[in-house]
Amino acid sequence: MARDRRFLIAGNWKMNGLLKDGVDLAKAVAAGADGRKAELLVCPPATLIKSVADAVQGTAVAVGGQDSHYENEGAYTGDVSPVMLKDLGCSYVILGHSERRAYHGESDEEVKAKAEAAHAAGLVAIICVGETEQQRDAGETLPVISTQIYGSVPEGATPQNTVIAYEPVWAIGTGRTATPEQAQDVHDHIRTYGMATYGPDNWEGVRILYGGSMKPGNAAELLSQPDVDGGLIGGASLKAEDFLAIADAADALM
Ligand code: PEP
Repeated sequence: MARDRRFLIAGNWKMNGLLKDGVDLAKAVAAGADGRKAELLVCPPATLIKSVADAVQGTAVAVGGQDSHYENEGAYTGDVSPVMLKDLGCSYVILGHSERRAYHGESDEEVKAKAEAAHAAGLVAIICVGETEQQRDAGETLPVISTQIYGSVPEGATPQNTVIAYEPVWAIGTGRTATPEQAQDVHDHIRTYGMATYGPDNWEGVRILYGGSMKPGNAAELLSQPDVDGGLIGGASLKAEDFLAIADAADALM
């Protein structure tokens, strides 16, 4: 099947891995990256970015951060700026992950400011949205997603500088996965809402990833949905074999 949008298979390693684990994992992913149709991305913790970037240099694996500030420098103890990520070899950054929204109180407005700064630094922003279980049960999924998109995505978003990750909060790290139909419904909504709000030319090509317990056993059916353009993968990205098996599923659909 010919797809207009190239699959992006992105690993969110979260706060996992010491130096040796990270480098070994990166090398194992890189060893399986040659000749792939899908694009591969790993997002290690900030402490591992430089070593991972060195380990995958010259391969088809891209590297991203898991968060970055809306300023490039200054008195922000503990934070990392987009130009710092760029300087280490990153081309992507994950922004507004539900864990950042929940544990660090990140608002849509802050995520948008971070995305603008990431764009200015030349990074592709992977902007995360997703409803809680309570919101889904109350039938609020689509309005919640529209509000998050409107609040978090800058006006200058294009397919070149922005990826959206739909990550239902109830499916992250729980082993529960959205059904392919549930995922497609929300992805279709994000596409339609984005095209109406930001202009069709800008949004037709924006990649929308699914995230939430994606693994080798469910990747093919999720990725075969027309508006699912890849995966943001947590747990299963910590094992090269599983991560590459998900990439295999994507390749088979391209
Ligand atoms: C994530 O946190 O981005 C994620 C999708 O995690 P998991 O795959 O472990 O559910």
